[in-house]
Amino acid sequence: MTASPTNTQQADRATEAWDIDQSAQLYGINAWGADYFSISPQGEVQVRVAFGDHTVTVPLMEIVQGMHDRGLHMPAILRIRNLLDHRIELLNTSFSRAIDAGGYQSPYRGVYPIKVNQQCHVVEEIADYGQAYHHGFEAGSKAELIIAMSQLRDSEGLIICNGYKDAEFIELGLYAVQMGIPCFFVVETLSELPIIIERSRALNIEPLLGVRIKTTVAVDGYWSQDSGDRSIFGLSTASLMRLVDTLRQADMLHCLRLLHCHLGSQIPNIRNVRSGVLEACRFYAGLAQEGAPMGYLDLGGGLAVDYEGVRTNSTHSMNYRLDEYCVNIVESIRETLDPLEIEHPVIITESGRATVAYSSMLLFNILNVSSSSPAAPTSAPPQDCPDALKNLFELQQHVSTQNFQECYNDALFYRDELRELFHHGQATLRERALAENVCVSILHHIAALLPDLPRVPPELQNLPEQLSDIYYGNFSLFQSLPDIWAIDQLFPIMPIHRLGEAPGRTAILADLTCDCDGKIDRFSSLEGERNTLQLHELRTGEEYYLGVFLVGAYQETLGDLHNLFGDTNVVNVAIQADGSFEFAREFHGDSIADVLSYVEYEPKRLQEDFRLVAEKAVRAGKISVAQRSQIVQAFRESLHGYTYFEKY
Ligand SMILES: *Cc1c(COP(=O)(O)O)cnc(C)c1O
Repeated sequence: MTASPTNTQQADRATEAWDIDQSAQLYGINAWGADYFSISPQGEVQVRVAFGDHTVTVPLMEIVQGMHDRGLHMPAILRIRNLLDHRIELLNTSFSRAIDAGGYQSPYRGVYPIKVNQQCHVVEEIADYGQAYHHGFEAGSKAELIIAMSQLRDSEGLIICNGYKDAEFIELGLYAVQMGIPCFFVVETLSELPIIIERSRALNIEPLLGVRIKTTVAVDGYWSQDSGDRSIFGLSTASLMRLVDTLRQADMLHCLRLLHCHLGSQIPNIRNVRSGVLEACRFYAGLAQEGAPMGYLDLGGGLAVDYEGVRTNSTHSMNYRLDEYCVNIVESIRETLDPLEIEHPVIITESGRATVAYSSMLLFNILNVSSSSPAAPTSAPPQDCPDALKNLFELQQHVSTQNFQECYNDALFYRDELRELFHHGQATLRERALAENVCVSILHHIAALLPDLPRVPPELQNLPEQLSDIYYGNFSLFQSLPDIWAIDQLFPIMPIHRLGEAPGRTAILADLTCDCDGKIDRFSSLEGERNTLQLHELRTGEEYYLGVFLVGAYQETLGDLHNLFGDTNVVNVAIQADGSFEFAREFHGDSIADVLSYVEYEPKRLQEDFRLVAEKAVRAGKISVAQRSQIVQAFRESLHGYTYFEKY
């Protein structure tokens, strides 16, 4: 953790000279932005897209303006189609380059795991743009298989079926094979095997089979438990042998074509990738030696995203580049299989996160700030006030680098003493407010001294954070950024404008839910994780917009309806070669009626129920008939409004 400057220190700095390079350094945008995001000379975040040999940039504020003009208000998810296309292109061309350079004898076939972002227009775009590379889909359930079968446009694109499969799932996949789609069943558990054998015989369609193994390599990062003996997925070596024997007995060993392993998501360390691939190759070779024809090696997902931009093997970062990832995989396979004279398999990866993370961002406005700064100080204590309050005033005069720790303890002591007096009716509400204000002012003074100290005592290290402002954002963490809440994910977060001005406030973020978990107090920075974020002072009559970046993976459907905040507005933007952009798609988020129907209310009934309540008020003489229709009208309008904070 890096100590943050305090708001008192920075109040003076707000007017200080500041430039966009300092903002870029502070928010790390050039590091995590992967050349897609940067700051314009006007101090706005812009998205950069390459077209052949020229690039165009579009400021996000222009898109936000366009959204407002179309009645699409904050919060909103902005998807940039070009970034999604570019990720698919990059993944495929990087593997092609590694394959060509390494003299590898088989191609790469990527598949997109639908669970990572199932939204129709994301999947459609991948199917469409991915055609040129025979990019296919990974499906983990019947619903996802139905998406894959109906969206895949290219007959050379693969469908990989993971997850538990019932007879219906298997029949669907067999029909795909019958239609000429290379659709593989990856056996995850031996209990699926008899159903697959029975159904394929009954329909007289030979399946394409794969098998998922448990690898034993230990993987760094959050998903370390996805691999290893205790992984809940995949077959143990003993079960693998039983599978081979069962298939041989059923005269179906020739259907076994693919080995699958998935080390986990967001693998930050290239060494783990390498050892995982080496181990998978040994299994692959073993199955080939057992007489299975094989031909496909599926290495699962795990390609990381550098959310922090620090290029390390920390959980939210990665210590390798995409081209290194590809070269490592190609080389590891060759190293293991060449000495055994086993033909090079088609390489499959199921990169989800790295494919979709960049293309979406969450944009929201700040509604309000709860400032930590003390109210204007009073110079002297009131007459006849309790001693505790007098002592606080006294203390205020004497804070220095020599006695700050003592002052800290005393300030809290006297404040608590006064609260105790208040509790017993021996201090007034005003005295308590005054005591708290003087105490905060002392704490600010102490915090301002900390950066100049050679060593900050442990109990004071969190002081700047405790004294930070709270910026209330128009979003729900649970709906739009569930991984921050669930797994402490770090996403890059920054203002999308005013970046030529010094961000004079130290803050944490809170969302609209009245839940103490609905806050963000962990932020990435190039100097390490921080508990606060530097933001600009709000200006009256002017919106202040923040962006949370790299949120295309896993966030959109994991989100929930906590406090009944629903889906946000979404816009898909396509940037053109001349730098103009079009709103290719726009979706209005859930209305209040929508979210209420998710929890089994019927909006029509609610209106009717409310009408009766209003009618009763008329009969009781509380409201007039005219007022009744006004109230019922307001109720109806609210029901059809956005679930987030709307400004008139
Ligand atoms: C979740 C998952 C993926 C996607 O992993 P990423 O790290 O997002 O690339 C791929 N394959 C399987 C089997 C998965 O469960």
